[in-house]
Formats: sequence, C-alpha cells, structure tokens
Amino acid sequence: MFNLILFGPPGSGKGTQSDRLVEKYGLVHLSTGNLLRSEIAEKTPLGIEAKNFIDKGQLVPDEVVIGMIDNSLEQHRDAKGFLFDGFPRTANQAKALDKLLELKRTTIHNVLALEVSEEELVKRLLERGKTSGRSDDTDEAVIRNRFSVYQNETAPVADHYKAQHKFKAIPGEGSVEEISAALSEQIDKTLDRQQQEAFE
Ligand code: ADP
Repeated sequence: MFNLILFGPPGSGKGTQSDRLVEKYGLVHLSTGNLLRSEIAEKTPLGIEAKNFIDKGQLVPDEVVIGMIDNSLEQHRDAKGFLFDGFPRTANQAKALDKLLELKRTTIHNVLALEVSEEELVKRLLERGKTSGRSDDTDEAVIRNRFSVYQNETAPVADHYKAQHKFKAIPGEGSVEEISAALSEQIDKTLDRQQQEAFE
C-alpha cells in the first residue's frame, strides 16, 4: 500500500494536485473538505452541524472528521492506497490516523507540504470564491481566520510527521505541471524504495 498526505494551507493547491495524483497512482482521494461539503449539500445532521464551523473559518470537531475518515477507510478496504487531503488538520487527528492505519497494518508513507506565500494564498482564495460557490472563500475575514487556525492548530501536524522522517516541503508556486512533477518525484522515490524492499 502507499498512503500519502498532501499538506498545506488553504489555497495551496491540494485539491488541484490531488486530482492529478489519484489519477496517476490509482489512489483513493479522501478530502475531508469535500466529504463535509457533500454532507452539507445533502443536509444531513452532520452537515448541518459542520456548516456552522466552516462558515466561520473554524475547524469541525476532531471526532466528527475522524469518524468520517474511519468510515471511508472501511468503505475502501481493497484500495491500493489513500491520498489524504485536508486531513489530518490537528495533532489529535494525526494521532488518530496513525492508530486507524496501524489497525489496518499500514502507515503513512509520505507527507508532502505545498509551500505558498500568504499574499498569493489570499489572492487565490478570493479568486476561487468568485466561482466556487464556497461561502468560506468570499469573505477576507473568514480567510484570515482560516490562516490563523492553520498556524495554531494545523502547523503542529508537520512536527508530528517530521519526527517520523516522513515530511517534505515542496514549492507550491509555479505551473500546475511543475508542482505535479516535484510531487511525483518524491512519490516515485518512495515507491522505488518499497519495490526494492519487497525484493530483499
Ligand atoms: P481549504 O483547504 O481551502 O480550507 P477544505 O475544503 O480542506 O478547504 O476545508 C474547508 C473547511 O472544512 C475548513 O475550513 C474546516 O472548517 C473544514 N474542515 C475540512 N477538513 C477538516 C478537518 N480535517 N478537521 C476539521 N475541519 C475540517
């Protein structure tokens, strides 16, 4: 199995790059943002609760998103691997994910972090807000709040994976193709290593 976390602040391009990587490597894409938005669209109790947090730029409670990920892992028992996008977003979520994967006798192999300046991020998010219909992308105050949540709660997730020697930063400014190539280079290294180990 090969499991990847695509890490980075709101607007860093995780969604765009995820689409390309799941296609190229045959991974199952697990985006907590997308899962939450579909719960909201279907007006489920979970969606209705989550919307209150999302509209303010706050995080949805850990137990809610961890439960969603647990369900998704169960639904795709025969997956070749998973690409986690927008999860884990807190140190608690990271610890919970480690445990869930351990139960499935697997682990996270790579954490690739897209690095983009805050100025560029705000520009991209406001631009996306014009067409995405996402209420959290139209208000600059909500966007700024998401950055401060990212700094305070999500940045520590990087340390969790640095300690496991799985973390690698990738420049997230440039063309979509250049960034995909840089991500693929890291993934290919890990896959080559996995193959070698399988022969040893
Ligand atoms: P972005 O990366 O642009 O902020 P996402 O689609 O990943 O967009 O997330 C949108 C919102 O959904 C977040 O601001 C947050 O409120 C909620 N959310 C998504 N993933 C998580 C998560 N793992 N934990 C808590 N809240 C989450």
